[in-house]
Amino acid sequence: MSERRSTEVPPEERLRPDDDCPLFSPALEDHLIALTRGEVPARGRFCGNCYTPIARDTALCPHCGNDTEQGRVPVRAVPDQITLILRSQRKIESTWVNGLAYLGLVIAVVGGIALVLSIPFFRANLIWATLLYGLILLVGGRMLAGFLGGYFGDRWGYERARARTRDAWAEWLRERDG
Ligand SMILES: [Zn+2]
Repeated sequence: MSERRSTEVPPEERLRPDDDCPLFSPALEDHLIALTRGEVPARGRFCGNCYTPIARDTALCPHCGNDTEQGRVPVRAVPDQITLILRSQRKIESTWVNGLAYLGLVIAVVGGIALVLSIPFFRANLIWATLLYGLILLVGGRMLAGFLGGYFGDRWGYERARARTRDAWAEWLRERDG
């Protein structure tokens, strides 16, 4: 499920950070994901501040505004530590999405049987009770899993993962700029 964001959610619907941490522009994220799949070479030209991939003649980073001549000079590869930060961010996100989707299933399983058994007609007619319960599991389970995981899990996971990324970025800056 860790690839969920990139494979199922169209890019324009993805959550975008509104904090001051410049790490992981869409271009950098795409580059790192393509890199783990072996689709692009590791070497290239990257902003020396936020590591966004930039063209050979780019003077100003389009993502963080770093001046490649007056500011931090471009680097030829993204530092391993930055890749690790992204991996950790995505892992936190997918844990939340999967965890809440699973919670949605559990709610359907437990809530469904409680609901069916609370109605006298179904308690007396086991065939109908089984059919209704099956329907609740199929439809309700899927909806709850999608709603909790896809909506709340996605947002909460993103917020928590992003908070961790901000900390990691601050630490990286201390290490890098000392
Ligand atoms: Zn930059």
